[in-house]
Amino acid sequence: MPARVSEALVLRTYPLKEADLVVSFLSRDQGKLRGVAKRARRPKSAFGSGLERLSHVRMAYFQRESRELVNLDGCELIQSQFGLVSDYATSVALDYFAEASELLLPAAEPSEKFFRLLLAVLESLRPAAGEENGRSGRVWRAVTYFSFWAVRLSGWLPELHACLNCGSYLDDPESPERAFFSRDRAGLICDPCRRALGAGNSWELSRESRAIAGDILRQPVAQLASGGWTQETAADLRRFLVQQMESHADRRLVTIRMLESG
Ligand SMILES: [Zn+2]
Repeated sequence: MPARVSEALVLRTYPLKEADLVVSFLSRDQGKLRGVAKRARRPKSAFGSGLERLSHVRMAYFQRESRELVNLDGCELIQSQFGLVSDYATSVALDYFAEASELLLPAAEPSEKFFRLLLAVLESLRPAAGEENGRSGRVWRAVTYFSFWAVRLSGWLPELHACLNCGSYLDDPESPERAFFSRDRAGLICDPCRRALGAGNSWELSRESRAIAGDILRQPVAQLASGGWTQETAADLRRFLVQQMESHADRRLVTIRMLESG
């Protein structure tokens, strides 16, 4: 097989033997791949600082059909995220993007849209000139936007406008219904159904947050105003989306809890 070069985002690395690394990365054209980077932990390796999490690189590798792991040759850095990790929240947000991508993406299935989602949320964290304030607003905006689209691109976003149980329309402008979610349920239920179905932990997904979900669906992340965002903004929507990810993947996400409790 000839060498390939793919634009890629590094998701995670694991040490292997004395000096090597196993690298999980999302390539733009081949989806999520894993490869061995020989001697990557030695000084002056062919990978330089390109294997930091979410580094945007051009990755050179050999793919053998019989092997699950590709052989990494080297990488050329397009954009590192060093500039973004100067504060704790942004740094944990990047950990979360990498962790969720690693969890949700199937191996070797191209997903250009997921790749572009990651680039867009990373870009949205970079302050424009003279815009140093509002860093925290950008973090919550990016994390919420990413969570929504990661769930949607994985095919797991339930219907948000109708009660899962009785089918009633939740967003009638004349008489909007309250909507509730719980960990074991892939969708929203209306208040009468919640009462009828009995107890169990449930949370409300507020009308404001449902409206934000509509905005996220229609607009690029950079066009959502970041000014008004705080941790409280759409916190219920994030909880709902993380529950959807976790129940489909059957695993808990660690970093989002660090971020929400940080
Ligand atoms: Zn109902």
